[in-house]
Amino acid sequence: MTEKCVIVTGAARGIGLASADLFREEGWKVVIVDRDRGALDEVAAARPDLLALPHDVSDPDQVAAMLRDTLAWAGRLDALVNNAGVAEFGPIRDCDFAMWRRVMATNLDGVFLCSQACTEALAATRGAIVNIASISGLRASTLRVAYGTSKAAVIQLTKQYAAELGEVGVRVNCVAPGPVRTKLAMAVHSQEIIDAYHDAIPLNRYGSERELAEAIVFLASERASYVTGQVLAVDGGFDSTGVGLP
Ligand code: NAD
Repeated sequence: MTEKCVIVTGAARGIGLASADLFREEGWKVVIVDRDRGALDEVAAARPDLLALPHDVSDPDQVAAMLRDTLAWAGRLDALVNNAGVAEFGPIRDCDFAMWRRVMATNLDGVFLCSQACTEALAATRGAIVNIASISGLRASTLRVAYGTSKAAVIQLTKQYAAELGEVGVRVNCVAPGPVRTKLAMAVHSQEIIDAYHDAIPLNRYGSERELAEAIVFLASERASYVTGQVLAVDGGFDSTGVGLP
């Protein structure tokens, strides 16, 4: 057993919850953060060993509270998983500024704010950051002007942080998931998109939350002690083929 502590944002469901459960299985102290208080309370009721914090990662004051509450509970921080994300799809002409800002506020501002706030605590343990981007940040396709741009920026943010935090021993990596049947994806994946993914992915299927969690926990752990500044696509081979999407 380890005394290590991890914060997973957006962990009231989906990939974040699967990651929180795998960290628990591996003996970590786990802090889950989510702005959906109802879902968070349900998850916490079934897992009394973790700390659940109802914060919004796009708000600097709430991010400061997240770190304060974590350190008061665990006394240390060894890893941060920036998983909270939103998806809104549509053609460029329909992406008004409010939609653009909603997507950027969580997907990009949230990653920047949480990482910056946690840097000192992570340096104290020579810890790690794992950001969750997307294959939509690796390759452009229609309907994803805000989402894809936010995720491409997360990939660059990963590299910027890795370049700067290496000297204090903090590793920073990124996972780029392919499609997973979560609430986020199923709200924006039309049947046409689902069929196209099945055709374009060499493994011919969506991934599971658990398959993503395995990569996230690996990158957060000592097992990846010489890995930093990297993007790991966990996507059934989608990015390697170059096949297009609608
Ligand atoms: P999900 O909707 O199941 O879970 C996301 C969670 O984040 C939700 O519980 C939501 O309440 C929370 N959240 C959103 N905005 C927040 C904020 N500002 N502050 C705090 N919590 C917030 O989605 P998921 O599919 O599990 O997505 C997890 C991550 O994986 C996201 O970053 C997403 O972009 C990325 N991703 C998902 C897929 C996919 O196909 N599911 C593909 C590529 C990337």
